[in-house]
Amino acid sequence: MSQAFLPTREEAFVRLKDFVPRAGSAYAKSRNFDYGPTERKNVSVLSPYLRHRLIGEDEVVRAVLSKHRISAADKFVQEICWRTYWKGWLEQRPTVWSEYLSELSREKEKAEKYRDSAARYTAAVTGETGITAFDAWSKELVETGYIHNHARMWFASIWIFTLRLPWTLGADFFYRHLLDGDPASNTLSWRWVAGLHTRGKHYVARADNIRHYTDGRFDPSGELNEAPDPLDGPDNPPAVRLRPPMSVPPGEPVVLLVNEDDLTPERWPVNSEQVNGVMLLPADDSYPGLSEQVRAFRSQAIADAAGRAERFFSCPVVRLATAQPNEAVALCRAHSIEKLVTAHVAVGPARNTYDALVAGLAGSGIGAVEVRRDWDSAFWPHARAGFFKVKERMPETLERLGLM
Ligand SMILES: Cc1cc2nc3c(=O)[nH]c(=O)nc-3n(C[C@H](O)[C@H](O)[C@H](O)COP(=O)(O)OP(=O)(O)OC[C@H]3O[C@@H](n4cnc5c(N)ncnc54)[C@H](O)[C@@H]3O)c2cc1C
Repeated sequence: MSQAFLPTREEAFVRLKDFVPRAGSAYAKSRNFDYGPTERKNVSVLSPYLRHRLIGEDEVVRAVLSKHRISAADKFVQEICWRTYWKGWLEQRPTVWSEYLSELSREKEKAEKYRDSAARYTAAVTGETGITAFDAWSKELVETGYIHNHARMWFASIWIFTLRLPWTLGADFFYRHLLDGDPASNTLSWRWVAGLHTRGKHYVARADNIRHYTDGRFDPSGELNEAPDPLDGPDNPPAVRLRPPMSVPPGEPVVLLVNEDDLTPERWPVNSEQVNGVMLLPADDSYPGLSEQVRAFRSQAIADAAGRAERFFSCPVVRLATAQPNEAVALCRAHSIEKLVTAHVAVGPARNTYDALVAGLAGSGIGAVEVRRDWDSAFWPHARAGFFKVKERMPETLERLGLM
């Protein structure tokens, strides 16, 4: 499978079909190997598609379980559930995202002030640290928008414990360049590596592990801090209640408001006969410094969703130029519609944009409903503490969802 990430739903299914035969025991045995950017057969490389829901977790799991028993595909399905766990966990602790943003801006100011840390930061993001493995991953990330999971773990660990750079600057570097850049998976994985998610348990990158799992491509012996202490920080905030799922009043005509977090409106839990219009928000650019590659992937993925919506719903489909409420209000008025429906907007930049838009609807007489996918409703309540609860409930939840 080539690394060129075409931002379409069709491409997601091409990748899925190619990967399914290897999603069982082959994946369990080989998934931790990073064989390099031209050899990714041992993983699915589906993350940019899952991130924007060009394909659903349920669709991927259904395809995999139609060819493998759960006992063989357990590892792969668990990895999909890690994504769900991080999403659900951040939904229930949204201040972790705002705290990340505040700490990031403090660290950016500091990095600008101190020449030594600015030089170390620049070397890290340009791949000039002198640690060959780290430098290769840094360049691969910027060039391709993707690096392997194990490389992400090693990279984050070296960033924090060997280069002694602030974790927030590393998470920001990833978020700006990863095509799958996700507020939950990215921020919380960095916190996990640092030892801030599970207090005192940090991830330490070791040279022999890197040598083995890169199949000898890299050997940073003697270059890494292999005995660091975890970072210290405040305890995780207590979990808040999940927003209750809403449903669309039956029979009432609605306009769908689509944002980049969920680009398959044809699969939302909404009766398509009620849909009288579809509006697509532009790619969210409220997070500063997103790479051109990430911006292009997102805006082309939105164009792909617009094309599908046009074919699926027989109604006007509009790509909004801005996330300002006036365009949305005008379209609703033109079609005498009082209800906007969107799929759950996750904590992160898209949530802030959506909340501002909904606040701007006040006084217009137009209401907003947020529907939630069955997958999220089934798993998120278990994502309050560690991953274990999600893993424990995985078989019964998959059964309840009709996936096995
Ligand atoms: C520091 C760090 C930052 C990360 N940042 C992101 C991010 O911004 N966005 C993102 O989607 N993933 C992130 N991950 C998780 C993981 O690295 C990627 O999801 C995975 O590498 C994607 O490649 P793949 O699709 O081939 O994965 P596969 O191994 O084929 O797994 C299938 C799917 O399961 C999910 N998944 C797999 N592993 C994980 C994991 N550890 N955590 C969460 N979901 C997982 C992904 O959706 C992935 O597409 C991060 C991990 C680390 C350690």
